[in-house]
This record gives sequence, C-alpha cells and structure tokens, in this order.
Amino acid sequence: MKTAIYPGSFDPITLGHLNIIKRAAVCFDKLVVCVMVNSEKVNRGLFTPEERVELIRRVVQKLPNVEVDCSSGLLAEYARQKKACTLVKGLRAVSDYENELQMALINRKLNPRLETMFLPSSAKYTYLSSSVVKEMARYGSDLSDFVPREIIDDINAKMAAKLGG
Ligand code: ADP
Repeated sequence: MKTAIYPGSFDPITLGHLNIIKRAAVCFDKLVVCVMVNSEKVNRGLFTPEERVELIRRVVQKLPNVEVDCSSGLLAEYARQKKACTLVKGLRAVSDYENELQMALINRKLNPRLETMFLPSSAKYTYLSSSVVKEMARYGSDLSDFVPREIIDDINAKMAAKLGG
C-alpha cells in the first residue's frame, strides 16, 4: 500500500491546497493531510491546529482515501510511523522551490526511504496562500474564489472574533 503525506500549516485550507490534495490522492492508495504544528508559531495562527483539522476533514469528506491528522513532531519521523514513502508538496513559484528543495534533502537525510514529490500549482491558484485568504477576510472580501464554500462562514466568524477582541 502506497501512502503519501501532504504536510502544511493549512491556516486555513485554500482551493490551492484542495487542488493539490485531489491530484495527489489519485496517485496513492492513501494520502494523509497533516497539519504540522510548529511550537513557536502555534499561538500565532488564526485557527488552532485542531480547528484546522476539522475544517480540512469537512472539505475532504467525499475523498475516500484521504485522511487528516495533526503532528507536532519531526516530519521525517511522522512519515516513518505512518509507513509513508512520499511527501507531497505544491509549488507555486520558483521562490517556493529553494526552501522546499532544502527541506526535501533534509527529510531524505533523516529518512532515506522518503521521497518528496512536487506538484506544480494549477495556474489559477498560483497567487493563492493562506495569508492572502486571511488578508481578504480581514477586509471582508468575498472568499468564494479562494477557499472551499463550506468553510467560508468559519473564516469570517473567526476573523470577526479576532478583530472584535
Ligand atoms: P501557505 O500558508 O503558504 O498556504 P502551507 O504551509 O499551508 O502554506 O502549504 C502547504 C503546502 O501546500 C506547501 O507544499 C505549499 O507549497 C502548498 N501550497 C500552498 N498554497 C498552494 C497553492 N495555491 N497551490 C499549490 N500548492 C500550494
């Protein structure tokens, strides 16, 4: 059974992430979308890691071979536990590549059986990031071109609570 992991912050999941998930899911028996918790950044996100997991689960519920999880450990170690052979990464621009190449090499050093597979972003989502979504939400813009429909209300409510408090 070929298992792959798609790691990221997903704060929140965007249509760009979902596009990568759907394309990667057809390449593997199982795809684990993993919210990686960085202890330094954990309190700086819009959503808690548990909330991010819940939003992703809602969005991928119709994809039978996609699982959603959360980890605060080392990715190479997490992959070993999950018996995963591949990490999936989306590439938006050349600027993503430099950083991702370094991480791919480190992860393979830590776990020699772990390959990283890069999927190019769909042209229509190249500009899209979770940060852009948060910036749009802050100004009350329509989010329907950026995130899955079923999580728009959650983002607006969370941003309103953050700005209000
Ligand atoms: P961001 O906060 O920049 O959206 P994440 O850490 O949540 O980034 O991203 C997780 C993974 O998804 C990374 O491999 C990233 O390159 C990829 N990714 C993010 N946005 C897109 C997009 N619009 N198209 C393709 N891949 C993307």
